[in-house]
Amino acid sequence: MACFVFVFGADCIAQTKEKPNTEIQKMIREVSANNIEASIRKLVSFGTRNTLSEQNDPNRGIGAARDWIFGEFQKISAACGNCLTVEKQTFLQPKANRIPEPTNLTNVIAALKGTGDPARIYIVSGHYDSMCTSPTDAKCDAPGANDDASGTAAVIELARVMSKRKFDATIVFITVPGEEQGLLGAAHYAEQAKQNSVNIEAMFTNDIIGGVTTHRNSPNRDRVRVFSEGVPSNETEQQAATRRSVGGENDSQSRQLARFIKEQSDRYLKNFKVWMIYRRDRYLRGGDHIPFLERGFAAVRFTESDEDYTHQHQNVRTENGIFYGDTPEFVDFEYTANVARVNLIALASLANAPARPKNVAVVTTRLTNDTELKWDANTDAHLAGYEIVWRETASPEWTNSVFVGNVTTFLMKDRSKDNYFFGVRAVGKNGNKSLVLYPRSVR
Ligand SMILES: [Zn+2]
Repeated sequence: MACFVFVFGADCIAQTKEKPNTEIQKMIREVSANNIEASIRKLVSFGTRNTLSEQNDPNRGIGAARDWIFGEFQKISAACGNCLTVEKQTFLQPKANRIPEPTNLTNVIAALKGTGDPARIYIVSGHYDSMCTSPTDAKCDAPGANDDASGTAAVIELARVMSKRKFDATIVFITVPGEEQGLLGAAHYAEQAKQNSVNIEAMFTNDIIGGVTTHRNSPNRDRVRVFSEGVPSNETEQQAATRRSVGGENDSQSRQLARFIKEQSDRYLKNFKVWMIYRRDRYLRGGDHIPFLERGFAAVRFTESDEDYTHQHQNVRTENGIFYGDTPEFVDFEYTANVARVNLIALASLANAPARPKNVAVVTTRLTNDTELKWDANTDAHLAGYEIVWRETASPEWTNSVFVGNVTTFLMKDRSKDNYFFGVRAVGKNGNKSLVLYPRSVR
């Protein structure tokens, strides 16, 4: 339970020792590696899912994959009394670097509407397109079992399990094409969301989460990487000036999201861990979280702990005795299921927590060794109050927290903002906690 300390003597540490939520525990058990395997094999069966491949062939090409995913979401929705809004978001992508002719791209989307705060949205995504060695080769076989049938299959499985429950906020399950052509499906979705002022509080992309079997004996086998950026992609010059002056390069929304995922996942999964990677993405690579980051949304990327490049973006072949190709034999379905479970824990925890606080500020009017924080009142009916979190400036994760009640300002005596980093999060009556918001400074 949260401890109610309003005056500081002893710090109130380790606030997240609440009992695990039994409904989340049930959902973790319902995530099925067999279902994920079946989805991956089905997606591979379309031969290629290159974004430029056949759109109207029922058996081969990206159109067949698109329609199959749409059908899966519809089946899942039928099983929950039409609880999902399933749609195809089609747009004409103009000529681009890897798009030789204007091409229709279709995001396939299933939304589970929130029961309390439906305008607040959490997105979980995978890309259903694939490629062989050349991103513009629409004819070659491009099985894309790991990249990224694994992420797509995880999203479908999450929709299946989570649609049997209700959540306060809305969860949107999306699968997108055009990733290999420049993150095009995700960019279209993110741009629409920005233009319509959609309140996306967090976005997860799952891309190459298959746990390639050639690394089965890696010491990192028990974890998934979660990539989060430090300096925000959409940082303004004024924000940069503040950051250069007093820090904050380790406290972007993306990084708070990564910390949240790790903190919650650690509560439920004992044998599978979140490995936070403090960078936006890997060298020479990008992913569908980036268009969201560029538009000011908190986003992270999930990717297996070790990659094998002989089984990504390769024409399927054997050369000098070495097999190349992204085929299902190299996917560990149980590993993929564990990554899906991490997603599930974080999504369920977020969607049943209050919205994160807004306009959190640290007051910098005068020189003082106290720290004064203020924020806007949260209108959530289920709000219990707020927690102040803090840590040593050199610490990677929040280490301390205190519940301060349902207030919108708090003065921490004798704990200087010069010596610690602070944040604020909202706490629901059910004990669920929101993402942390790092304060901007106000004079
Ligand atoms: Zn990918």
